Amino acid sequence: MYTDNHNHTKHFSSDAKMSAHELIDTCRALNMRGVAVTEHYEGDYPHDIGVSQIFDISEFFDTTKEWLEYAGDFHLYRGIELGYQKHLCAFYDELMAKYPFDSVIMSNHLYNGKDPYFFRDCYEEDMLTVYTRYIEEMADLVEGCDNFDIVGHYDYINRYAPYEKPQIKYEQCPQSFDRFLSAIVAKGKTLEINTRSVDKMRRKGFSDVMPDPAILRRYYELGGRNISLGSDSHTKDTLCIHFKEVAEYLSSFGFTENSYYVKRQRHGEPLV
Ligand SMILES: [Zn+2]
Ligand SMILES: [Zn+2]
Repeated sequence: MYTDNHNHTKHFSSDAKMSAHELIDTCRALNMRGVAVTEHYEGDYPHDIGVSQIFDISEFFDTTKEWLEYAGDFHLYRGIELGYQKHLCAFYDELMAKYPFDSVIMSNHLYNGKDPYFFRDCYEEDMLTVYTRYIEEMADLVEGCDNFDIVGHYDYINRYAPYEKPQIKYEQCPQSFDRFLSAIVAKGKTLEINTRSVDKMRRKGFSDVMPDPAILRRYYELGGRNISLGSDSHTKDTLCIHFKEVAEYLSSFGFTENSYYVKRQRHGEPLV
């Protein structure tokens, strides 16, 4: 009975295949407590991939009235996944103040200005350099932007990394992680644990697929208690994927709740 905090539909996210009705039907069938739709919104996206990476937010709120009716008593939340770039913080802060989203995820899909999904040459530098810089950018994100709730997939950088052992670890850049995690705690934000990342690592055959224990321990030690589970689904077959396993893993570090947001207010449901 979980809430899945991070998902995309084909109606507003160009890389998603699932319809809103499929999303709702599947979540109901899985006996989930709720689900958040968090479509991509990448202001000033640096790559021309032939499709817009932003959407009309007013149209989103019009369209989703029907989704809410279709969902009935099932909890459907209307969120967004913003793509961070330093110069967009003020713009996003103002934009989010204008619309009644339930939840706002802020993610960084860029490394040094390019998306590693399209530009694998981002990884030509050594792993420590790349990961340190990425986590520094994540710290910039939390420190620089204000009007968001959840920090998306801190491990995005290792999804496409060609390194032998690509899992991102605290020990690779402890000072950068301290800066990043402290900022989350200081601002009362929520750290996302992205189960799509776990799934991708597992599909590639790695044995080390769970979030690094040292990162979780350090976050807890710094006072971090807010975490949220998100499957980052683009298709219906991955909704809520690995939630039970990851929730049990997180609870072993002392975390007790999966955070979810309603009208930008944090709520918690038991992890186990
Ligand atoms: Zn993302
Ligand atoms: Zn996403």
